[in-house]
Amino acid sequence: TGMCVLDRGGSSLDAVEAAVRRLEGCGLFTAGARAPPNMEGVVELDAAIMDGSRLEYGAVMAVRGVAHPVTLARYVLERTPVAQVVGDGALRLYREMQHAGYRPMGPDTEGPGPKGPPLAAGCDTVGCIAVDRHGRIAVAGSTSGWPGKLPGRVGDTPVVGAGLYATDQVGALCTGRGEHILRVVMAGSAVFQFSQGHTVQEAADSALRQLREKTSGDGGIILVSSAGDVAWAFDTPHMPLAVATEGQGVWSSLVPR
Ligand code: ASP
Repeated sequence: TGMCVLDRGGSSLDAVEAAVRRLEGCGLFTAGARAPPNMEGVVELDAAIMDGSRLEYGAVMAVRGVAHPVTLARYVLERTPVAQVVGDGALRLYREMQHAGYRPMGPDTEGPGPKGPPLAAGCDTVGCIAVDRHGRIAVAGSTSGWPGKLPGRVGDTPVVGAGLYATDQVGALCTGRGEHILRVVMAGSAVFQFSQGHTVQEAADSALRQLREKTSGDGGIILVSSAGDVAWAFDTPHMPLAVATEGQGVWSSLVPR
């Protein structure tokens, strides 16, 4: 989905938003309108999007009644002077966004998507990193956290530096227990490692090692550089991912540990 956007000349921001909307809408993951609810039976969602080339970021947290929080996060980035909006304030913004006709919203805008059971009962945050033909990097992530979470709880996914980060050189996106990832500002730490001369793979491995050593948490991370180098690392039981490269098609896998 993201590559189709890039092929049509779309920006990396367009591509990550489209890919994450697709993942939010497919119903397989703990993201989007069909994500598992919190302990009060309400679906409460977090999402964020970041444009590394302009160092701009938008996020919504603990928002209810929004099918595609990633688009609302982009609305925050592009149409408001703030970076993060939570709860009722985010819902108010959502209504404003719809009123403004900012973008088509709703699960049917990307087709029905694949049907099937969730891939795992626990955490299944979704996300995407894209580099467009101008070398601009964008990152987006979306989640409901985990089933039965405390109402109002927000993890790392929408928090800049923790769940995601991007510069004009590299983008990073994390998954795993937010309470652990926040403590080691995992995405920011990987980006820092890269800026110190490490490869994307070394940066991914280092961030994951730090997560494990400092918090005993497990998780995963993906990185993409502006040159198109791709890396990932995880020590969770699974972390399905896909890589689409211009002219080389799509590679995807459920990668065993
Ligand atoms: N990081 C997410 C959170 O804690 C969960 C996940 O990655 O699946 O909200």
